Amino acid sequence: MPTRKTTAMISREVLSAYLDDLLQTNRFRDYSPNGLQVEGRSGIARIVTAVSASMETLQKAVALQADALLVHHGYFWKNEDGRITGTRKERIALLLRHDLNLFGFHLPLDAHPELGNNVQLAQRLGITVSGQHPDEALVWLGHLPQAPTLKTFGAQIKRTLKRDPLLIGNPDQPLRRIAWCTGGAQNYFELACRAGVDAYLTGEVSEQHFHLAQETGVAFIAAGHHATERYGIQALGQHLADQFGLTHQFIDSGNPV
Ligand SMILES: [Zn+2]
Repeated sequence: MPTRKTTAMISREVLSAYLDDLLQTNRFRDYSPNGLQVEGRSGIARIVTAVSASMETLQKAVALQADALLVHHGYFWKNEDGRITGTRKERIALLLRHDLNLFGFHLPLDAHPELGNNVQLAQRLGITVSGQHPDEALVWLGHLPQAPTLKTFGAQIKRTLKRDPLLIGNPDQPLRRIAWCTGGAQNYFELACRAGVDAYLTGEVSEQHFHLAQETGVAFIAAGHHATERYGIQALGQHLADQFGLTHQFIDSGNPV
């Protein structure tokens, strides 16, 4: 019988330092702490990744006997009430009870040039990446080599993300130059319009963006906050599995937003 390959184990300190270096966490002024957010056991062999550290995700990570959970949306956001009560108490109690490490990576995971949410999404949607917006590094610029119409590109997004995007604009308008920012980045739409693009893609939308799209002729695409941010954390988990021989599994959730 062939011997089963055993999973390697690394220490929490080594993993933590590696991730901080890889994602250059100290370069970012962020809305939440990046890196280890809740400390668990010291040895890590099995990692689980997810977009958000919801209760459902925590329970699945525990059921999978994970040593560490890595997410894009962790805890301890600025402007949040910091008290550990209610659902926050339940989540943190579960993490501590199971000695499960929680790592959160927010802007560093959006921005990474290979593993980041924006670059990973571009790869899946056939966008050729030019680079980051000169005035706002969170917004990326690129082009669609085949210049699909808004309608055709919308259908491609639906196939890829398994979710209907909201498309605002002329469905027959060809899209060449595109700006995008995964997640809840609708407020960069105006900045994107000034960059001379045909379309701006993000996760969420607000009321005023309908009018701005109409008046500028720049198409607005809201493809889902959760849906557009699934790929960075998965790429990070896969990278760690390859690098250290860890076991990795991604947990998705049916978040419609
Ligand atoms: Zn987000």
